[in-house]
Amino acid sequence: MDKDDLAVISKTAQSILKNEIKHLPLIPSVALKLLELTQDDKAKLIDLTHLIETDPALTAKLLQHVNSATYRFSHKISDIKQAVQLLGFSDVRQLALDLLFYDKLIKNQKTKLFDGLFFWQHCLFVALLSKKIAIALNHPHPDQVYTAGLIHDIGKVVLEVYGRMTYSDFIPTLKNSENTITENERRFFGMTHTEIGHVFCAAWHLPEPITAVVACHHELPAVDSLFAVFKTEIAIVAFANYVAWMQGISSVVNEANPILPAEVLETLQFAQLDLDDLLQQVDQDMQNTREFYGIQFPAVTKLRAALVKTTINLSQLHHQETPTPTISTKNYSGLTAPHHSLNPNEFVPMTLAAIGTEFCFDRCLMLAIDPKQRCLLSTYRWPECAQTFDIELSHAPEPLLQALREKKAQLINGDFAPNKPLLYQLNVAEFFIVPVLNHNRLVGVLYADNGESKKPLNVDSLAEMLPIANELGIALFNAKQYDQQKKCAQLDPLTQLYNKRMVDEFLSKAFNQPKNSLAQTAVGFIDIDKFKLFNDLCGHQAGDDVLKIVADILRGMTRPGDFIGRYGGEEFLFVLKNTDKAGAYSFAERIRVAIEQRGKLMSQRFHDHALTVSIGVALYHPHYSTYMELINVADQAMYRAKNSGRNKVVMLLESSK
Ligand code: GH3
Ligand code: MG
Ligand code: MG
Repeated sequence: MDKDDLAVISKTAQSILKNEIKHLPLIPSVALKLLELTQDDKAKLIDLTHLIETDPALTAKLLQHVNSATYRFSHKISDIKQAVQLLGFSDVRQLALDLLFYDKLIKNQKTKLFDGLFFWQHCLFVALLSKKIAIALNHPHPDQVYTAGLIHDIGKVVLEVYGRMTYSDFIPTLKNSENTITENERRFFGMTHTEIGHVFCAAWHLPEPITAVVACHHELPAVDSLFAVFKTEIAIVAFANYVAWMQGISSVVNEANPILPAEVLETLQFAQLDLDDLLQQVDQDMQNTREFYGIQFPAVTKLRAALVKTTINLSQLHHQETPTPTISTKNYSGLTAPHHSLNPNEFVPMTLAAIGTEFCFDRCLMLAIDPKQRCLLSTYRWPECAQTFDIELSHAPEPLLQALREKKAQLINGDFAPNKPLLYQLNVAEFFIVPVLNHNRLVGVLYADNGESKKPLNVDSLAEMLPIANELGIALFNAKQYDQQKKCAQLDPLTQLYNKRMVDEFLSKAFNQPKNSLAQTAVGFIDIDKFKLFNDLCGHQAGDDVLKIVADILRGMTRPGDFIGRYGGEEFLFVLKNTDKAGAYSFAERIRVAIEQRGKLMSQRFHDHALTVSIGVALYHPHYSTYMELINVADQAMYRAKNSGRNKVVMLLESSK
């Protein structure tokens, strides 16, 4: 990142914000001075005292806090000097910053989908854990690392409070998305929260290490970047951010997993960290904070240090055994394993073995969900000799079905009589079931029992298995992505939809099948209205983003058997099977509406140029001898939609020749 880059992102930032970034009253001046104090090794306690005393409200709150039950001092502390003497520079400064940011960023914010409290919890957790790690690693300025952790996501607040489109507008678009948060932000806002945070820190002249963390916590700086010297601080916060996500304390709901670059673990000398102890301390500090603010954070998650450790150890182990595959996409560059292998045949058995040994189970299975047969199928087992089985869902007891529906880990035992037939069938007294999720979607189920030794299962293990199941979900997702990469030649690089060659191939194959298999096939031709104007008004990058957004919407709305592809510049095509006139029309109409709505949400970014599409739909007819005839009819229908005013769906039933 050099000056020119900053100039470019500053310009973009300005265009998506309502106010000049220098004038955003997000950081109170006292906080700004407090931030500078950390930079200065010579800062005296007295400076800190004076600074705090310039803000009467802050002074009052600080005194209230040090006199609260948390500290249990035998006598009342009546001035800041005394507080600083008793608690020390670091604690008082940290408290003052917490209070200022809480007041400014969270308390008065009319929260919409961007939940201020949830966000605050994330920031505090990341700050506290970052500071503890910094101390453990003998970092010279743990306070600075704390501050960097506290404001690492400031870009999100800038967007929420001052964005023409706010973070609350953005959050619903994350639903079911498989992209990383920064990728989605780039599509939606035209830039990421890390970039806007960087611009903000630069405009406010925040200390360099803090700016570096804000700018680079999702992607480590390149070796020649000006921020490369702050690699340790960045790695600490990136790691704390990852742990927060694993604990369910992400900064916004729907957030997909952050990617943890392998370099982060190397930089941190991870093996030397006593995570157990660190997380316990953070847990205690979080509890104190909750009590002080008198708030119940939305997700009070018990920290599971042992599990985070196991998961990461597991990934390290794997890292040593399997060379990192060389894949050009940056998504793959730094995943922790089990993600280090992209082959489920390697990492699933390894994970099962790790779970089996760690928790002393007799048997551990990975079950896949077969939606067609409504069945759980065992796909991997540990140990090698373990017996496998399938579970038919139509006969499964309610607690098991409920666990799958609600994506919850569950102990299934004989206390509930309807469980008994299944327990009998599996020849066990009880078993665990833990959902393997990715982006909150069920991708499989972990099964474990002690059927052989008959040792009772310890219910506490259930919660501890969850982070591992999480990791496994991510790994499976990455493996799937990798498979897709192999199909790269078939995909359009911009939208990741099938390219025209694949559309042609798919339809030509379909037309080679017996005619009756085509009977209920529909083809839709989607063309973005006045697309050229997006390029002309907002630049080619915005035009590309529009194409990606439309592709994402299409992907999100199609069913597994449907086919979608990019047919040309701003033209897309869908093929639906097993549909009829009404079904195909209403599908096209739903797409039209969804795209129009997204356009309205993003109208500021597109200078009020409406994002709409015209869709032509054609149904297969036995007269058609080649697929091109079917496409041509859909194309004609699309042109009719254009000619009758655009933003319409037109369906043609037969060639109008
Ligand atoms: P109409 O409503 O009649 O469809 O108008 P239109 O502007 O959408 O259609 P037109 O065919 O005149 O313009 C399509 C434009 O799409 C022209 C081309 O420069 C642009 N385009 C094609 N592929 C890409 C791409 O990959 N990225 C970007 N940004 N623009 C593209
Ligand atoms: Mg972030
Ligand atoms: Mg067009």
